[in-house]
Amino acid sequence: MCLCPVQNRYQKLEASTPFSTMNLTATNHRIPLSDGNSIPVIGLGTYSDPRPFPGETYKAVKMAIDEGYRHLDGAYIYHNEHEVGEAIREKIAEGKVKREEIFYCGKLWATDHTPEMVRPALERTLKVLQLDYVDLYIIEIPMAFKPGKELYPKDENGQWIYHKTDLCATWEALEACKDAGLVKSLGVSNFNRRQLEVILNKPGLKYKPVTNQVECHPYFTQPKLLKFCQQHDIVVVAHSPLGTCRNPMWVNVSSPSLLNDELLNSLGKKHNKTAAQIGLRFNIQRGVVVIPKSFNLKRIIENFQIFDFSLTEEEMKDIEALNKNVRFVELLMWKNHPEYPFSDEY
Ligand code: NAP
Repeated sequence: MCLCPVQNRYQKLEASTPFSTMNLTATNHRIPLSDGNSIPVIGLGTYSDPRPFPGETYKAVKMAIDEGYRHLDGAYIYHNEHEVGEAIREKIAEGKVKREEIFYCGKLWATDHTPEMVRPALERTLKVLQLDYVDLYIIEIPMAFKPGKELYPKDENGQWIYHKTDLCATWEALEACKDAGLVKSLGVSNFNRRQLEVILNKPGLKYKPVTNQVECHPYFTQPKLLKFCQQHDIVVVAHSPLGTCRNPMWVNVSSPSLLNDELLNSLGKKHNKTAAQIGLRFNIQRGVVVIPKSFNLKRIIENFQIFDFSLTEEEMKDIEALNKNVRFVELLMWKNHPEYPFSDEY
């Protein structure tokens, strides 16, 4: 396995090449972004299902920062962004971390795609967080909904009310937010190859997307999208890296539970790790950022303990072979949206 520094090696990564993380540690685990910034390879997911009780997110984020997490993944629509901000600010005030050591990713929701709504949406997030800037702001889904206060707009017949989607216009408004200093880096989420190309090929593009946050784990390894992203210096951020909370209301539970997988558990025994740690390590070892969600101290600690072992090339290949090409998060309720991203092969 190559041991050259990530910074020198990252640009040359092939999708199939195991990513050397030998120099990533619990205290130093940022990987470079194409705009000159960097992103911690593990973050705490903060979407909670069921809805967290008041104070739960605040406690979890504080615990995570104490345990070494420096990357928090949040969103206005998670309804707990204020608690994430409060916890970050408290840890800064305590002197535990400096603002520049924290990496916060916020998300532009589907009802805020129209260019004139982009900056107010980001400013609303900053106000909720009580921070001056976010490190990364991403288009949460490539589908626009009717603009307005209703986050999930439906008509009187219960049908979704969509809106004309112009990803380039939304992107230009995001570029203006970066120029205004409200955000350091810009990215997307749940974009397929074609939608990434729409942005990458936009005439007059000022800033390329630096990340694409998509579902990614041993049962859905995303080989083609990962390769395309790596060829374009776009870091893949894996949401639902542990296979989600498996709520059948929105999760496709026809695919079996990832954490019960036989191979992940047997590799866990071999390395004295859990199936969750093997799955997370698999992703970071191939250059994919992971954002596991846990609001439980034991599991917050467990998910972070992935820097003190490595998987062999053969083990990486065996895990890659678990890919079932089946999503847990299909967003099928929006399948008839013209920009529904998951009908394309990748
Ligand atoms: P996940 O991180 O794959 O799994 C979370 C579930 O696993 C929770 O039920 C958690 O429960 C449990 N868990 C955590 N650590 C565990 C461990 N070591 N062993 C056993 N169970 C464990 O799922 P996710 O929340 O869907 O995804 C993570 C984050 O990605 C979200 O929080 C959100 O920030 C982001 N996300 C983004 C999108 C998008 O469209 N961009 C979509 C989905 C998610 P406890 O809390 O009880 O530990």
